[in-house]
Amino acid sequence: MKPHDGMYIDGDWRPAAGSGTIDVVNPADEQVFATVPAGTADDVDAAVRAARAAFRGWAATPPAERAARIAALRDVLAARSEEIAETVTAELGAPLAFSRAVHAGLPVAVAGSYAELAAAHPFEERIGNSTVLHEPVGVVGAITPWNYPLHQIVAKVAPALAAGCTVVLKPAEDTPLVAQLFAEAVHEAGLPAGVFNLVTGLGPVAGQALAAHEDVDLVSFTGSTAVGRQIAATAGAAVKRVALELGGKSANVVLPGADLAKAVNVGVANVMSNTGQTCSAWTRMLVHRERYEEAVALAVTAAAKYVPGERIGPVVNARQHERVLGYIAKGVEEGARLVAGGTEVPRTRGYWVSPTVFADVTAEMTIAQEEIFGPVLSILAYEDEEDALRIANGTVYGLAGAVWAGDDAAAVAFARRMDTGQVDINGGRFNPLAPFGGYKQSGVGRELGPHGLTEYLQTKSLQF
Ligand code: NDP
Repeated sequence: MKPHDGMYIDGDWRPAAGSGTIDVVNPADEQVFATVPAGTADDVDAAVRAARAAFRGWAATPPAERAARIAALRDVLAARSEEIAETVTAELGAPLAFSRAVHAGLPVAVAGSYAELAAAHPFEERIGNSTVLHEPVGVVGAITPWNYPLHQIVAKVAPALAAGCTVVLKPAEDTPLVAQLFAEAVHEAGLPAGVFNLVTGLGPVAGQALAAHEDVDLVSFTGSTAVGRQIAATAGAAVKRVALELGGKSANVVLPGADLAKAVNVGVANVMSNTGQTCSAWTRMLVHRERYEEAVALAVTAAAKYVPGERIGPVVNARQHERVLGYIAKGVEEGARLVAGGTEVPRTRGYWVSPTVFADVTAEMTIAQEEIFGPVLSILAYEDEEDALRIANGTVYGLAGAVWAGDDAAAVAFARRMDTGQVDINGGRFNPLAPFGGYKQSGVGRELGPHGLTEYLQTKSLQF
Protein backbone atom coordinates (compact mmCIF):
# COMPACT_ATOMS: atom_id res chain seq x y z
CA MET A 1 0.00 0.00 0.00
CA LYS A 2 1.01 3.61 -0.52
CA PRO A 3 1.41 5.44 2.82
CA HIS A 4 -1.02 8.29 3.49
CA ASP A 5 0.31 11.67 4.54
CA GLY A 6 -2.87 12.61 6.41
CA MET A 7 -5.26 11.32 9.06
CA TYR A 8 -8.41 9.29 8.42
CA ILE A 9 -11.09 11.46 10.04
CA ASP A 10 -14.83 11.62 9.39
CA GLY A 11 -14.68 9.22 6.45
CA ASP A 12 -11.84 10.91 4.58
CA TRP A 13 -8.06 11.40 4.54
CA ARG A 14 -7.43 14.91 5.87
CA PRO A 15 -4.15 16.86 6.03
CA ALA A 16 -2.48 16.59 9.44
CA ALA A 17 -2.69 19.62 11.72
CA GLY A 18 1.08 19.73 12.27
CA SER A 19 4.10 19.14 10.05
CA GLY A 20 5.90 16.44 12.06
CA THR A 21 6.51 13.02 10.60
CA ILE A 22 7.44 9.54 11.83
CA ASP A 23 9.92 7.36 9.95
CA VAL A 24 8.85 3.76 9.45
CA VAL A 25 11.87 1.46 9.76
CA ASN A 26 12.28 -2.13 8.57
CA PRO A 27 13.72 -3.87 11.66
CA ALA A 28 15.39 -6.54 9.51
CA ASP A 29 17.81 -4.04 7.93
CA GLU A 30 17.23 -0.69 9.69
CA GLN A 31 16.16 0.99 6.44
CA VAL A 32 13.59 3.80 6.59
CA PHE A 33 11.06 2.86 3.91
CA ALA A 34 8.09 5.16 4.60
CA THR A 35 6.98 8.15 6.63
CA VAL A 36 3.62 8.95 8.18
CA PRO A 37 2.36 12.11 9.86
CA ALA A 38 2.89 12.62 13.58
CA GLY A 39 -0.50 13.62 14.94
CA THR A 40 -0.99 16.42 17.45
CA ALA A 41 -3.66 17.20 20.04
CA ASP A 42 -5.50 19.12 17.29
CA ASP A 43 -5.73 16.00 15.10
CA VAL A 44 -6.97 14.02 18.09
CA ASP A 45 -9.56 16.68 18.84
CA ALA A 46 -10.84 16.66 15.24
CA ALA A 47 -11.06 12.85 15.30
CA VAL A 48 -12.91 12.80 18.64
CA ARG A 49 -15.40 15.40 17.36
CA ALA A 50 -16.06 13.25 14.27
CA ALA A 51 -16.54 10.18 16.44
CA ARG A 52 -18.90 12.06 18.75
CA ALA A 53 -20.96 13.38 15.82
CA ALA A 54 -21.30 9.85 14.41
CA PHE A 55 -22.10 8.21 17.73
CA ARG A 56 -25.90 8.61 18.05
CA GLY A 57 -26.52 7.40 14.51
CA TRP A 58 -24.28 4.36 14.80
CA ALA A 59 -25.62 3.47 18.26
CA ALA A 60 -29.16 3.59 16.84
CA THR A 61 -28.27 1.42 13.83
CA PRO A 62 -29.90 -2.00 14.33
CA PRO A 63 -27.38 -4.63 15.50
CA ALA A 64 -28.02 -6.72 12.38
CA GLU A 65 -26.90 -3.79 10.20
CA ARG A 66 -23.84 -3.15 12.34
CA ALA A 67 -23.08 -6.86 11.99
CA ALA A 68 -23.38 -6.62 8.20
CA ARG A 69 -20.85 -3.75 8.08
CA ILE A 70 -18.42 -5.68 10.32
CA ALA A 71 -18.84 -8.72 8.04
CA ALA A 72 -18.02 -6.47 5.06
CA LEU A 73 -14.92 -5.26 6.92
CA ARG A 74 -13.87 -8.87 7.56
CA ASP A 75 -14.28 -9.59 3.84
CA VAL A 76 -12.06 -6.65 2.84
CA LEU A 77 -9.41 -7.74 5.37
CA ALA A 78 -9.57 -11.28 3.95
CA ALA A 79 -9.31 -10.02 0.37
CA ARG A 80 -6.29 -7.86 1.24
CA SER A 81 -4.58 -10.42 3.47
CA GLU A 82 -1.45 -10.77 1.32
CA GLU A 83 -0.94 -7.00 1.39
CA ILE A 84 -1.50 -7.02 5.16
CA ALA A 85 1.08 -9.80 5.62
CA GLU A 86 3.67 -7.96 3.49
CA THR A 87 3.06 -4.69 5.34
CA VAL A 88 3.47 -6.30 8.77
CA THR A 89 6.60 -8.11 7.63
CA ALA A 90 8.09 -4.81 6.44
CA GLU A 91 7.31 -2.79 9.57
CA LEU A 92 7.55 -5.48 12.29
CA GLY A 93 10.07 -7.87 10.72
CA ALA A 94 8.04 -11.08 11.17
CA PRO A 95 8.76 -13.87 8.65
CA LEU A 96 6.22 -13.73 5.83
CA ALA A 97 4.76 -17.18 6.57
CA PHE A 98 4.04 -16.10 10.17
CA SER A 99 2.59 -12.78 8.98
CA ARG A 100 0.26 -14.61 6.62
CA ALA A 101 -0.94 -17.12 9.19
CA VAL A 102 -1.17 -14.92 12.28
CA HIS A 103 -0.82 -11.20 11.56
CA ALA A 104 -3.21 -11.36 8.59
CA GLY A 105 -5.21 -14.48 9.50
CA LEU A 106 -6.13 -13.79 13.13
CA PRO A 107 -7.75 -10.36 12.52
CA VAL A 108 -10.01 -11.90 9.88
CA ALA A 109 -11.14 -14.54 12.39
CA VAL A 110 -11.72 -11.96 15.14
CA ALA A 111 -13.59 -9.54 12.85
CA GLY A 112 -15.72 -12.50 11.70
CA SER A 113 -16.49 -13.44 15.29
CA TYR A 114 -17.79 -9.92 15.99
CA ALA A 115 -19.94 -9.91 12.85
CA GLU A 116 -21.69 -12.93 14.39
CA LEU A 117 -21.71 -11.66 17.97
CA ALA A 118 -23.12 -8.24 16.99
CA ALA A 119 -26.10 -9.94 15.39
CA ALA A 120 -26.69 -12.39 18.23
CA HIS A 121 -25.89 -10.36 21.37
CA PRO A 122 -28.78 -9.85 23.85
CA PHE A 123 -28.71 -6.03 24.00
CA GLU A 124 -31.92 -6.14 26.08
CA GLU A 125 -33.13 -8.46 28.81
CA ARG A 126 -36.04 -8.61 31.25
CA ILE A 127 -35.23 -8.99 34.97
CA GLY A 128 -38.34 -9.00 37.21
CA ASN A 129 -40.24 -5.79 36.43
CA SER A 130 -37.24 -4.23 34.71
CA THR A 131 -36.12 -4.12 31.12
CA VAL A 132 -32.35 -3.88 31.17
CA LEU A 133 -30.73 -2.16 28.21
CA HIS A 134 -27.08 -2.79 27.32
CA GLU A 135 -26.11 0.41 25.57
CA PRO A 136 -22.84 1.47 23.92
CA VAL A 137 -20.46 3.41 26.18
CA GLY A 138 -19.86 6.16 23.59
CA VAL A 139 -16.63 7.35 22.01
CA VAL A 140 -13.73 4.92 22.46
CA GLY A 141 -10.07 5.96 22.41
CA ALA A 142 -8.03 2.91 21.35
CA ILE A 143 -4.25 2.92 21.88
CA THR A 144 -2.49 -0.11 20.44
CA PRO A 145 1.02 -1.60 20.42
CA TRP A 146 3.20 -2.93 17.60
CA ASN A 147 3.58 -6.60 18.52
CA TYR A 148 0.44 -7.93 16.80
CA PRO A 149 -0.35 -4.64 15.11
CA LEU A 150 -3.52 -5.50 13.21
CA HIS A 151 -4.85 -8.03 15.72
CA GLN A 152 -4.58 -5.49 18.53
CA ILE A 153 -6.53 -2.98 16.44
CA VAL A 154 -9.27 -5.42 15.43
CA ALA A 155 -9.56 -6.83 18.98
CA LYS A 156 -10.61 -3.32 20.10
CA VAL A 157 -12.34 -1.79 17.08
CA ALA A 158 -14.52 -4.77 16.08
CA PRO A 159 -16.21 -5.24 19.50
CA ALA A 160 -16.53 -1.46 19.93
CA LEU A 161 -18.34 -1.20 16.58
CA ALA A 162 -20.44 -4.27 17.39
CA ALA A 163 -21.54 -2.60 20.65
CA GLY A 164 -22.49 0.60 18.82
CA CYS A 165 -19.52 2.72 19.92
CA THR A 166 -17.46 4.96 17.63
CA VAL A 167 -13.68 4.89 17.73
CA VAL A 168 -10.52 6.99 17.51
CA LEU A 169 -7.41 4.83 17.07
CA LYS A 170 -3.82 5.82 17.91
CA PRO A 171 -1.65 2.91 16.71
CA ALA A 172 1.97 2.26 17.67
CA GLU A 173 4.50 4.54 16.01
CA ASP A 174 6.51 1.52 14.82
CA THR A 175 3.62 -0.04 12.88
CA PRO A 176 1.42 2.75 11.47
CA LEU A 177 1.12 1.39 7.92
CA VAL A 178 -1.07 -1.59 8.72
CA ALA A 179 -3.25 0.82 10.71
CA GLN A 180 -3.62 3.00 7.60
CA LEU A 181 -4.46 -0.12 5.62
CA PHE A 182 -7.12 -0.94 8.21
CA ALA A 183 -8.61 2.55 7.77
CA GLU A 184 -8.75 1.93 4.01
CA ALA A 185 -10.55 -1.35 4.72
CA VAL A 186 -13.08 0.41 6.97
CA HIS A 187 -13.72 2.87 4.15
CA GLU A 188 -14.09 0.12 1.56
CA ALA A 189 -16.48 -1.77 3.85
CA GLY A 190 -18.80 1.24 3.80
CA LEU A 191 -18.85 2.17 7.48
CA PRO A 192 -20.51 5.56 8.00
CA ALA A 193 -18.20 8.59 8.20
CA GLY A 194 -16.86 9.26 11.71
CA VAL A 195 -17.56 5.78 13.08
CA PHE A 196 -13.87 4.94 12.84
CA ASN A 197 -11.05 7.52 12.86
CA LEU A 198 -7.27 7.14 12.76
CA VAL A 199 -4.60 9.46 14.17
CA THR A 200 -1.03 8.25 13.73
CA GLY A 201 1.45 9.76 16.15
CA LEU A 202 3.67 9.46 19.19
CA GLY A 203 2.42 8.03 22.47
CA PRO A 204 3.27 10.94 24.76
CA VAL A 205 1.68 13.41 22.30
CA ALA A 206 -1.23 11.88 20.36
CA GLY A 207 -1.75 8.96 22.76
CA GLN A 208 -1.75 11.20 25.82
CA ALA A 209 -4.12 13.69 24.14
CA LEU A 210 -6.54 10.85 23.34
CA ALA A 211 -6.43 9.37 26.86
CA ALA A 212 -7.01 12.82 28.36
CA HIS A 213 -9.67 14.06 25.92
CA GLU A 214 -12.81 15.07 27.82
CA ASP A 215 -15.14 13.73 25.14
CA VAL A 216 -13.69 10.21 25.11
CA ASP A 217 -15.83 7.88 27.25
CA LEU A 218 -13.61 4.81 27.38
CA VAL A 219 -9.89 4.30 26.80
CA SER A 220 -8.79 0.85 25.72
CA PHE A 221 -5.03 0.39 25.91
CA THR A 222 -2.65 -2.47 25.20
CA GLY A 223 1.05 -2.10 25.94
CA SER A 224 3.48 -1.76 28.81
CA THR A 225 2.39 -1.75 32.44
CA ALA A 226 4.21 1.57 32.96
CA VAL A 227 2.20 3.39 30.29
CA GLY A 228 -0.99 1.55 31.29
CA ARG A 229 -0.63 2.90 34.81
CA GLN A 230 -0.23 6.44 33.46
CA ILE A 231 -3.27 6.10 31.19
CA ALA A 232 -5.38 4.73 34.05
CA ALA A 233 -4.40 7.74 36.18
CA THR A 234 -5.24 10.20 33.38
CA ALA A 235 -8.55 8.52 32.61
CA GLY A 236 -9.35 8.12 36.31
CA ALA A 237 -9.03 11.87 36.87
CA ALA A 238 -11.81 12.39 34.31
CA VAL A 239 -13.82 9.38 35.61
CA LYS A 240 -13.80 7.57 32.30
CA ARG A 241 -13.73 3.84 31.80
CA VAL A 242 -10.46 2.09 31.11
CA ALA A 243 -9.57 -1.32 29.71
CA LEU A 244 -5.92 -2.33 30.04
CA GLU A 245 -4.13 -5.27 28.45
CA LEU A 246 -0.63 -5.17 29.90
CA GLY A 247 2.45 -7.30 30.33
CA GLY A 248 2.95 -10.88 31.38
CA LYS A 249 5.48 -13.39 32.69
CA SER A 250 3.44 -16.50 32.16
CA ALA A 251 4.33 -19.91 33.53
CA ASN A 252 4.40 -23.15 31.54
CA VAL A 253 4.04 -25.74 34.31
CA VAL A 254 5.09 -29.28 33.43
CA LEU A 255 3.74 -31.60 36.13
CA PRO A 256 5.10 -35.13 36.72
CA GLY A 257 3.32 -37.55 34.37
CA ALA A 258 3.15 -35.04 31.50
CA ASP A 259 4.41 -35.78 27.99
CA LEU A 260 7.68 -33.94 28.58
CA ALA A 261 8.84 -33.74 24.95
CA LYS A 262 5.51 -32.29 23.82
CA ALA A 263 5.33 -29.84 26.73
CA VAL A 264 8.86 -28.57 26.06
CA ASN A 265 8.53 -28.39 22.27
CA VAL A 266 5.20 -26.54 22.39
CA GLY A 267 6.57 -24.35 25.19
CA VAL A 268 9.65 -23.32 23.21
CA ALA A 269 7.53 -22.65 20.10
CA ASN A 270 5.22 -20.48 22.22
CA VAL A 271 8.11 -18.32 23.46
CA MET A 272 9.91 -18.00 20.10
CA SER A 273 6.73 -17.19 18.19
CA ASN A 274 6.74 -13.56 16.97
CA THR A 275 10.32 -13.30 18.29
CA GLY A 276 9.06 -13.49 21.85
CA GLN A 277 7.05 -10.30 21.44
CA THR A 278 3.82 -11.75 22.80
CA CYS A 279 2.31 -10.52 26.06
CA SER A 280 0.88 -13.97 26.84
CA ALA A 281 4.12 -15.89 26.05
CA TRP A 282 5.03 -18.69 28.49
CA THR A 283 8.45 -17.25 29.26
CA ARG A 284 8.98 -19.31 32.42
CA MET A 285 9.08 -23.09 32.06
CA LEU A 286 8.67 -24.94 35.38
CA VAL A 287 9.90 -28.53 35.45
CA HIS A 288 10.15 -31.03 38.33
CA ARG A 289 13.71 -31.40 39.61
CA GLU A 290 13.74 -35.11 38.61
CA ARG A 291 13.28 -34.46 34.90
CA TYR A 292 14.92 -31.04 34.80
CA GLU A 293 18.08 -31.83 32.82
CA GLU A 294 16.06 -33.85 30.31
CA ALA A 295 13.80 -30.81 29.76
CA VAL A 296 16.77 -28.46 29.35
CA ALA A 297 18.29 -30.72 26.66
CA LEU A 298 14.94 -30.89 24.82
CA ALA A 299 14.59 -27.11 24.98
CA VAL A 300 18.08 -26.56 23.54
CA THR A 301 17.26 -28.86 20.60
CA ALA A 302 13.91 -27.16 20.05
CA ALA A 303 15.40 -23.64 20.19
CA ALA A 304 18.01 -24.55 17.55
CA LYS A 305 15.19 -24.88 14.99
CA TYR A 306 14.44 -21.15 15.27
CA VAL A 307 16.97 -19.93 12.76
CA PRO A 308 16.99 -16.11 12.60
CA GLY A 309 15.77 -14.94 9.20
CA GLU A 310 13.90 -18.19 8.58
CA ARG A 311 11.54 -19.09 11.42
CA ILE A 312 12.22 -16.07 13.59
CA GLY A 313 12.49 -12.38 12.73
CA PRO A 314 14.28 -9.48 14.44
CA VAL A 315 12.79 -7.56 17.37
CA VAL A 316 10.91 -4.42 16.46
CA ASN A 317 13.30 -1.53 17.08
CA ALA A 318 16.66 -0.39 18.46
CA ARG A 319 15.23 0.29 21.92
CA GLN A 320 13.73 -3.18 22.25
CA HIS A 321 16.97 -4.68 20.87
CA GLU A 322 19.02 -3.00 23.55
CA ARG A 323 16.48 -3.91 26.20
CA VAL A 324 16.34 -7.62 25.29
CA LEU A 325 20.14 -7.92 25.05
CA GLY A 326 20.35 -6.13 28.40
CA TYR A 327 18.09 -8.74 30.00
CA ILE A 328 20.21 -11.57 28.55
CA ALA A 329 23.34 -9.97 30.01
CA LYS A 330 21.53 -9.58 33.33
CA GLY A 331 20.61 -13.29 33.33
CA VAL A 332 24.26 -14.26 32.93
CA GLU A 333 25.32 -11.72 35.56
CA GLU A 334 22.80 -13.07 38.10
CA GLY A 335 24.13 -16.60 37.66
CA ALA A 336 21.66 -18.32 35.33
CA ARG A 337 23.19 -20.98 33.03
CA LEU A 338 23.08 -19.91 29.38
CA VAL A 339 22.37 -23.05 27.33
CA ALA A 340 21.38 -21.50 23.98
CA GLY A 341 21.82 -18.09 22.33
CA GLY A 342 23.22 -15.17 24.27
CA THR A 343 24.16 -11.56 23.62
CA GLU A 344 26.04 -12.30 20.41
CA VAL A 345 23.80 -11.10 17.58
CA PRO A 346 23.21 -13.29 14.53
CA ARG A 347 23.43 -10.33 12.09
CA THR A 348 25.00 -6.94 12.61
CA ARG A 349 22.48 -4.95 10.55
CA GLY A 350 18.93 -5.06 11.88
CA TYR A 351 17.64 -5.80 15.35
CA TRP A 352 18.45 -9.51 15.51
CA VAL A 353 18.62 -11.57 18.70
CA SER A 354 19.64 -15.24 18.98
CA PRO A 355 16.93 -17.52 20.38
CA THR A 356 18.07 -17.79 23.98
CA VAL A 357 17.46 -20.37 26.70
CA PHE A 358 18.52 -20.04 30.33
CA ALA A 359 18.66 -22.98 32.77
CA ASP A 360 19.14 -22.87 36.55
CA VAL A 361 16.96 -19.78 36.77
CA THR A 362 15.63 -19.10 40.25
CA ALA A 363 12.29 -17.46 40.97
CA GLU A 364 13.76 -14.21 42.26
CA MET A 365 16.10 -13.52 39.32
CA THR A 366 15.28 -10.50 37.15
CA ILE A 367 14.77 -12.73 34.07
CA ALA A 368 12.16 -14.72 36.04
CA GLN A 369 10.31 -11.62 37.22
CA GLU A 370 10.34 -9.00 34.45
CA GLU A 371 8.81 -9.07 30.99
CA ILE A 372 11.67 -9.32 28.46
CA PHE A 373 9.62 -9.24 25.23
CA GLY A 374 12.20 -11.10 23.18
CA PRO A 375 13.06 -14.72 22.29
CA VAL A 376 14.26 -15.63 25.78
CA LEU A 377 13.11 -18.66 27.79
CA SER A 378 13.88 -19.22 31.49
CA ILE A 379 13.70 -22.79 32.81
CA LEU A 380 13.14 -23.18 36.55
CA ALA A 381 13.20 -26.36 38.67
CA TYR A 382 10.55 -27.07 41.32
CA GLU A 383 10.50 -29.60 44.17
CA ASP A 384 6.78 -30.44 44.42
CA GLU A 385 3.39 -29.11 43.30
CA GLU A 386 3.16 -26.51 46.08
CA ASP A 387 6.57 -25.20 45.11
CA ALA A 388 5.50 -25.08 41.44
CA LEU A 389 2.37 -23.14 42.38
CA ARG A 390 4.33 -20.69 44.53
CA ILE A 391 6.73 -20.01 41.64
CA ALA A 392 3.95 -19.83 39.01
CA ASN A 393 2.02 -17.26 41.08
CA GLY A 394 5.14 -15.44 42.26
CA THR A 395 5.25 -12.45 39.92
CA VAL A 396 3.27 -9.21 39.68
CA TYR A 397 1.72 -10.48 36.44
CA GLY A 398 -1.10 -12.93 35.68
CA LEU A 399 -1.97 -12.95 32.00
CA ALA A 400 -1.70 -16.52 30.71
CA GLY A 401 -0.04 -19.87 31.30
CA ALA A 402 -0.05 -23.56 30.54
CA VAL A 403 -0.26 -26.76 32.55
CA TRP A 404 0.78 -30.20 31.34
CA ALA A 405 -0.05 -33.34 33.32
CA GLY A 406 -0.76 -37.05 32.80
CA ASP A 407 -4.46 -36.26 32.44
CA ASP A 408 -6.58 -33.14 31.92
CA ALA A 409 -8.22 -33.40 35.35
CA ALA A 410 -4.88 -33.09 37.15
CA ALA A 411 -3.87 -30.16 34.95
CA VAL A 412 -7.22 -28.41 35.46
CA ALA A 413 -6.97 -28.86 39.25
CA PHE A 414 -3.60 -27.08 39.18
CA ALA A 415 -4.82 -24.38 36.75
CA ARG A 416 -7.70 -23.50 39.10
CA ARG A 417 -5.12 -22.42 41.66
CA MET A 418 -3.16 -20.20 39.28
CA ASP A 419 -3.61 -16.41 39.55
CA THR A 420 -3.87 -15.81 35.84
CA GLY A 421 -6.44 -14.99 33.17
CA GLN A 422 -5.99 -17.81 30.69
CA VAL A 423 -4.45 -21.30 30.96
CA ASP A 424 -3.94 -23.86 28.17
CA ILE A 425 -4.42 -27.42 29.41
CA ASN A 426 -2.20 -30.11 27.85
CA GLY A 427 -1.75 -28.04 24.68
CA GLY A 428 -5.34 -26.78 24.35
CA ARG A 429 -5.78 -24.73 21.17
CA PHE A 430 -6.07 -20.92 21.10
CA ASN A 431 -9.73 -19.96 21.16
CA PRO A 432 -10.48 -16.54 19.60
CA LEU A 433 -13.81 -16.43 21.48
CA ALA A 434 -12.36 -17.07 24.94
CA PRO A 435 -11.97 -14.01 27.20
CA PHE A 436 -8.38 -12.76 27.14
CA GLY A 437 -7.00 -10.50 29.86
CA GLY A 438 -5.07 -10.28 33.04
CA TYR A 439 -5.14 -10.85 36.76
CA LYS A 440 -2.99 -8.60 38.97
CA GLN A 441 -0.79 -6.10 37.05
CA SER A 442 -1.51 -7.75 33.70
CA GLY A 443 -4.51 -5.55 33.28
CA VAL A 444 -8.15 -4.70 33.73
CA GLY A 445 -10.96 -6.02 31.57
CA ARG A 446 -11.21 -8.72 28.91
CA GLU A 447 -10.90 -8.78 25.14
CA LEU A 448 -12.27 -11.19 22.49
CA GLY A 449 -15.55 -13.05 22.23
CA PRO A 450 -18.72 -12.01 24.05
CA HIS A 451 -16.75 -10.81 27.11
CA GLY A 452 -14.81 -8.45 24.85
CA LEU A 453 -18.08 -7.03 23.54
CA THR A 454 -19.51 -6.32 26.99
CA GLU A 455 -16.48 -4.12 27.79
CA TYR A 456 -17.98 -1.54 25.41
CA LEU A 457 -21.49 -1.58 26.92
CA GLN A 458 -23.10 0.20 29.86
CA THR A 459 -26.33 -0.76 31.54
CA LYS A 460 -29.64 1.06 31.96
CA SER A 461 -32.70 -0.41 33.70
CA LEU A 462 -36.32 0.60 33.05
CA GLN A 463 -38.92 -0.45 35.61
CA PHE A 464 -42.45 -1.17 34.42
P1 NDP B 1 4.23 1.22 25.15
O1 NDP B 1 3.39 0.82 26.28
O2 NDP B 1 5.06 2.45 25.27
O3 NDP B 1 3.34 1.41 23.81
C1 NDP B 1 2.04 0.96 23.59
C2 NDP B 1 1.20 2.08 22.97
O4 NDP B 1 1.04 3.16 23.90
C3 NDP B 1 1.82 2.71 21.72
O5 NDP B 1 0.80 3.10 20.82
C4 NDP B 1 2.50 3.92 22.31
O6 NDP B 1 2.81 4.93 21.37
C5 NDP B 1 1.47 4.38 23.31
N1 NDP B 1 1.99 5.27 24.35
C6 NDP B 1 3.27 5.39 24.81
N2 NDP B 1 3.34 6.34 25.77
C7 NDP B 1 2.08 6.84 25.93
C8 NDP B 1 1.50 7.83 26.76
N3 NDP B 1 2.24 8.51 27.64
N4 NDP B 1 0.18 8.07 26.65
C9 NDP B 1 -0.59 7.38 25.78
N5 NDP B 1 -0.10 6.45 24.95
C10 NDP B 1 1.22 6.16 25.03
O7 NDP B 1 5.14 -0.01 24.76
P2 NDP B 1 6.60 -0.01 24.10
O8 NDP B 1 6.44 -0.02 22.64
O9 NDP B 1 7.44 1.09 24.68
O10 NDP B 1 7.19 -1.40 24.62
C11 NDP B 1 7.82 -1.48 25.89
C12 NDP B 1 7.47 -2.74 26.61
O11 NDP B 1 6.06 -2.81 26.79
C13 NDP B 1 7.80 -4.03 25.90
O12 NDP B 1 9.12 -4.42 26.11
C14 NDP B 1 6.83 -4.98 26.54
O13 NDP B 1 7.37 -5.41 27.76
C15 NDP B 1 5.60 -4.14 26.78
N6 NDP B 1 4.58 -4.30 25.72
C16 NDP B 1 3.52 -5.09 25.99
C17 NDP B 1 2.58 -5.31 25.00
C18 NDP B 1 1.38 -6.16 25.25
O14 NDP B 1 0.86 -6.75 24.30
N7 NDP B 1 0.87 -6.21 26.46
C19 NDP B 1 2.72 -4.75 23.65
C20 NDP B 1 3.87 -3.90 23.48
C21 NDP B 1 4.76 -3.71 24.50
P3 NDP B 1 4.26 4.87 20.65
O15 NDP B 1 4.19 3.73 19.71
O16 NDP B 1 4.40 6.18 19.98
O17 NDP B 1 5.28 4.67 21.72
